[in-house]
Amino acid sequence: MATTHRELYDAIVVGAGIQGCFTAYHFAKNKRKVLLLEQFFLPHSRGSSHGQSRIIRRAYPENFYTKMMEECYQIWAQLENESGTKLYRQAGLLILGRKEEAELRVIQDNLSKHGVEHKFFNTEELKRYFSNIQLSRGEVGVWESSGGVLFADKALRVLQDLIRQLGGVIHDGEKVAEIKPGFPVTVTTTIRTYQAKSLIITAGPWTNQLLLPLGIQLPLQTLRINVCYWKEKVPGSFGENFPCFVGSFPHLAPHHIYGLPSREYSGLVKVCYHHGNKADPDERDCPSASPDLADVQLLRSFVRDYLPGLQPEPSIMERCMYTTSPDENFILDRHPKHNNIIIGAGFSGHGFKLSPVVGKILYELSMESTLSYDLTPFQIRRFQPLDKASL
Ligand SMILES: Cc1cc2nc3c(=O)[nH]c(=O)nc-3n(C[C@H](O)[C@H](O)[C@H](O)COP(=O)(O)OP(=O)(O)OC[C@H]3O[C@@H](n4cnc5c(N)ncnc54)[C@H](O)[C@@H]3O)c2cc1C
Repeated sequence: MATTHRELYDAIVVGAGIQGCFTAYHFAKNKRKVLLLEQFFLPHSRGSSHGQSRIIRRAYPENFYTKMMEECYQIWAQLENESGTKLYRQAGLLILGRKEEAELRVIQDNLSKHGVEHKFFNTEELKRYFSNIQLSRGEVGVWESSGGVLFADKALRVLQDLIRQLGGVIHDGEKVAEIKPGFPVTVTTTIRTYQAKSLIITAGPWTNQLLLPLGIQLPLQTLRINVCYWKEKVPGSFGENFPCFVGSFPHLAPHHIYGLPSREYSGLVKVCYHHGNKADPDERDCPSASPDLADVQLLRSFVRDYLPGLQPEPSIMERCMYTTSPDENFILDRHPKHNNIIIGAGFSGHGFKLSPVVGKILYELSMESTLSYDLTPFQIRRFQPLDKASL
């Protein structure tokens, strides 16, 4: 039977992925008593935040993300200073697409509106500047020089160290098994029972498992992502001078394809498909789950046609999870019935770069302080016509 821990925390955060870590960091930084609970021993690779690299960019079609990124860059830099650890490499980012695509124009307009340095490249210019990308359909591009790579695993480690240094408590290897709403909220793990003034659920692909006993299910899809690494034919050719890219190639795939310069494994370039197959996070790597590799097949075609300097067969394939909402926007809101239970979910494969501000928003929601951002795009009620029966 779980023993009861006497301390009353200001907040308990469930889940030590990047969103839970940043949330706990904001609590600790503001001198609040915070407990971060993680079901697995840290570090682990079972959720969405592991691995060495993530793309950071301001280039978004949605005005609200570009706006949030301004502060995100500041907090990432602050974290680098506080920890003395480099977490970001300014490799630049190329958004690729067909000239007639509306999204490219919207992104350019949005970057202009926010005063973000960027440049449009026609096909000829792209060929000149990025000779290892072959543009088989006459694609054009928008270049954002502040785009680049975040060092994901290092960021998690640094945040966990800082949370502890600032007086926060992290218990890993403790799965939250039961949540009793109320004031205080009572949380029972596989080991102990705790109480807090508020609870923040940042459980990634496990979010709906925790919400079911709390009477709510969000319209989230959990997708298994095949993370593929492709070998350079000429060693070093996709290293320091190769940018991050995100592109739309509708003749090959309905979702974006993206890539990052080699980092994780020397001479191997990460090129992935921004979509996957539905999967239960507890069965992600289950040998009996029949792997549908259509995504890898279309990546092979992409690499062969667009990146001929890479071997067209992945050398390494790893796994990660996306938790996707219907509009691919985040969910940052209170539980509809329990005011002191806050939910951060549905990061839809693009939440890492935005985690500094996500953590701040979840902190502000649970402290009932003035909100720094308009949360209309992130409210649960936008799904209610879809999902009323389950709320
Ligand atoms: C392959 C891949 C590439 C990506 N690329 C980018 C990118 O380039 N740029 C970008 O910005 N974003 C990117 N993302 C998205 C980004 O990584 C995710 O949005 C982010 O990591 C989500 O973090 P999270 O904390 O919500 O979830 P997670 O990292 O999954 O964390 C949730 C945590 O909760 C824990 N948990 C769950 N249930 C319980 C319980 N009952 N008790 C205790 N703990 C529990 C889990 O064990 C887990 O550690 C990518 C994602 C993937 C998979």
